[in-house]
Amino acid sequence: MKKTLLLLLCLPLLATAREATVASPNGQLKVTVSDEGGRATYALTLGGQTALLPSPLGFTADFGSFTEGLTITGTKAEQIDRSYTMRQVKQSHMHYMATLLSVDFANAKGQRMTVEFSVSDNDVALRYLIPRQQQDKPRSAVITGEQTGFCLPDGTTTFLSPQSKSMVGWERTKPSYEEEYTPDAPLSAASKYGQGYTFPCLFRTDALWVLISETGVTSQYCGAHLSDCRTVEGGATYTIAYPMEGENNGFGSPFAAIALPGQTPWRTVTVGTSLKPIVETTVQYDVVEPLYEPTCDYQGGRYTWSWLIWQDNSINWDDQVRFIDLAAAMGYEYCLVDDYWDENIGRERMAQLSAYALKKGVALMLWYNSNGAENDAPQGPRDCMNTSIARDREMAWLKSIGVKGIKVDFFGGDKQETMRLYEDILFDANRYGLQVIFHGCTLPRGWERMYPNYVSSEAVLASENVYFSDYHASQEPFQLCMHPFCRNASGTMDWGGVIMNRYLSKDNRSRHQRQTTNVFEMATGITNQTAVQCVAIQPNNLDELTDVELGFLRQLPTTWDETRFIDGYPGRYVVLARRHGQQWYIAGLNALKEPLDLSLDLSFIASEPAIMPQLNLIYDYADKKGVVAGTAQRQLKVNKKGRAQVTMVSDGGFIIYTDAQ
Ligand code: CA
Repeated sequence: MKKTLLLLLCLPLLATAREATVASPNGQLKVTVSDEGGRATYALTLGGQTALLPSPLGFTADFGSFTEGLTITGTKAEQIDRSYTMRQVKQSHMHYMATLLSVDFANAKGQRMTVEFSVSDNDVALRYLIPRQQQDKPRSAVITGEQTGFCLPDGTTTFLSPQSKSMVGWERTKPSYEEEYTPDAPLSAASKYGQGYTFPCLFRTDALWVLISETGVTSQYCGAHLSDCRTVEGGATYTIAYPMEGENNGFGSPFAAIALPGQTPWRTVTVGTSLKPIVETTVQYDVVEPLYEPTCDYQGGRYTWSWLIWQDNSINWDDQVRFIDLAAAMGYEYCLVDDYWDENIGRERMAQLSAYALKKGVALMLWYNSNGAENDAPQGPRDCMNTSIARDREMAWLKSIGVKGIKVDFFGGDKQETMRLYEDILFDANRYGLQVIFHGCTLPRGWERMYPNYVSSEAVLASENVYFSDYHASQEPFQLCMHPFCRNASGTMDWGGVIMNRYLSKDNRSRHQRQTTNVFEMATGITNQTAVQCVAIQPNNLDELTDVELGFLRQLPTTWDETRFIDGYPGRYVVLARRHGQQWYIAGLNALKEPLDLSLDLSFIASEPAIMPQLNLIYDYADKKGVVAGTAQRQLKVNKKGRAQVTMVSDGGFIIYTDAQ
């Protein structure tokens, strides 16, 4: 299908503002760039509705400033139409169509920069291209700040997670993107710690949903977040903020050092009249490229994990054998051995443990502390991931004993210094066929595409907190109904486990209870997206769970060809459909305090109702008083229009799946 290029550029008389407008391929999403008053701004509308009011552009560098006295000197537009595939995210075949607008600016000194906008039907990605200036110099630059802003109109509500202060929290490991989201908050609310908000950031205007994040951050830049907002006429502006100076114990610059010509990462704005484009966006992958080739055919899968409920004491030979046996009994691909294995199992016996696991058809993944000097986290193994010399030795050994992945924990910041560590770990791990999961870490920014052995990141107030406290257990339904619209929409998320124990304890009788139903937990295996999924099943669960529950968990897929938003509201409830090959899985979670009846349009499953495959429904079976008595399964009927009725109990869920063909 041929699309018309919509580019309007007015180049009127001097001293009058210049403006460039560009529209997405379907014409609905429009960006207007202006230099009025010597300031660079862009505004964003979808279908004529305001997503962003005129918002500031520009940055300061050691060689010059692009914040005022700016003039548009030229524009260029071109169409992008490209396809690519990915194995480990929400969708396997991507087709990216966009209009790329480049707007050249000059400042009063005649220094130049270009702002690029890649505009697809529901996403805008923007970045700065910075050339060398006079006499081909400078050839390198330090970018000391940006005023890139996002001005949301009055009446917008926010769904944000605050940025933590640095060098606080457990063993001074923060910031680690493990703060709580506040839903439906007013635009003017101040951030909890005065440090703004971590990406991704979700907003709801009168008519639109807006998700703001960034992608394409490599070792060549720092990670950013959003500042607190500043009230302006008609709205409030959030600005790109660089890392805090105190991160990593004050070591490393909070700025970005780049070679020239160079560029900043892409900042992304996803806009929809519904939540569908937010949940389904792939913009974080669309505008980046793989940075190296995989050395082997990395495989998704499921893993067992003793640490979540048995904790540090379980990292011993006998308990790890039990969790390897559990993985084997479930048909799972992996078992994660967590912290202190270097002391409590030792390297020699780890080689034997890995051999034992491989004989059972299970591959091990091993935990590492990222330290280093940046915090006080005591767990070993330490100092194996912080230099290339140490990594090379360690990873060669891991490969030699058949380990297939590593989980590296405790990074504590977004400085360029830290981004370099992430990238170096990933690149080195690929040389030894190791997949990588990060914990205590930052948000992935396009990394699933950029680094082919990257799997996922925690960067969320994850399952460990459900174990730690009754309060967090009570928040689990809210959390897992929030992330599909925000954190997990922007990148894969290692929540760390479908939890099937009723009590958060080894004996499954003591400590506090899980608040969710079993079906809710099983459904999170579908709604939480990561290609290597933790199922935090316990050895005792094999005797406790029903055939329906175990049967579902045994065949849980972790890679998806397609993801569809069906229904939901951030923090309240969610229904997603995901396709694995020819099989559909539709999963619902309800965090509301009352049951929820839904009429679902499932017509997308079949090209016509007459050939709709059998739909199997797993649901929370409630007794006559409405108390959940267990998990049940039955066939689900759809009407002639392909609609079906389902009910979710409070803190419960459902799963609909079609049979394998
Ligand atoms: Ca953590």
